[in-house]
Amino acid sequence: MQPIGVFGGTFDPVHCGHLRTAFELWQELRLAEVRFVPTGSPPHREQLYASAELRLKMVNAAVADQPRFVVDDREVRRSGVSYSVDTLTELRHEHPERSLCLLLGMDAFLGLPNWHRWREILPLAHIVVAYRPGWRAPSTGPLGELMVDHGTGAVRTLHEEPAGRVYVRPVTQLEISSTELRALIVAGRDPRYLVPDAVRQIILETRCYAPRQGPHAP
Ligand code: ATP
Repeated sequence: MQPIGVFGGTFDPVHCGHLRTAFELWQELRLAEVRFVPTGSPPHREQLYASAELRLKMVNAAVADQPRFVVDDREVRRSGVSYSVDTLTELRHEHPERSLCLLLGMDAFLGLPNWHRWREILPLAHIVVAYRPGWRAPSTGPLGELMVDHGTGAVRTLHEEPAGRVYVRPVTQLEISSTELRALIVAGRDPRYLVPDAVRQIILETRCYAPRQGPHAP
């Protein structure tokens, strides 16, 4: 059976950098599906801008025309802080034999040692790291060791084993971030082509990021 890709994020908002990365990893790793898991209350961020329901709505709108992208709302439904280790534990119970691939941008991977019970993640899933502009793979420290001990360059290994490997993959570099998108919207500029049209529409209609934005934004 093909692996399931698990792509978590605040998605505040979801953008074309997320979608293109997920798409390339889905194709190149021959994943059965990519599951987008928007966080409810993220442990690493002090502030969220759009509500959980709205972030979920934007992710749903973004993936609506791609049948192999599915949205998993368990972290939004779960009360309290969202921890990836809890989500992966649940997924592992639901799919005991299946290969699970946690998809991360390089910036997220570099922050992994700060995650709650981070050493329990690799026994539950493979970690697939996508190069992201401006970030380099670690060669020292706990992540450098992780790459030496668990790294693989073979997609086949991700299919044959259910968890436990680290795989780094270059993807098309799209220098888009949610933070910069929100700043652009606050400045009254149009996010067209940086987010899917359906997401742009929700941002314009709900004015969730900027009181100044409107249909006449330049
Ligand atoms: P922020 O600007 O607030 O940090 P973000 O754009 O990084 O937001 P997140 O929802 O925090 O978005 O990211 C979810 C996942 O997507 C993370 O693993 C992150 O590394 C990855 N990611 C985000 N943007 C890109 C991009 N442009 N290219 C590749 N991966 C990305």
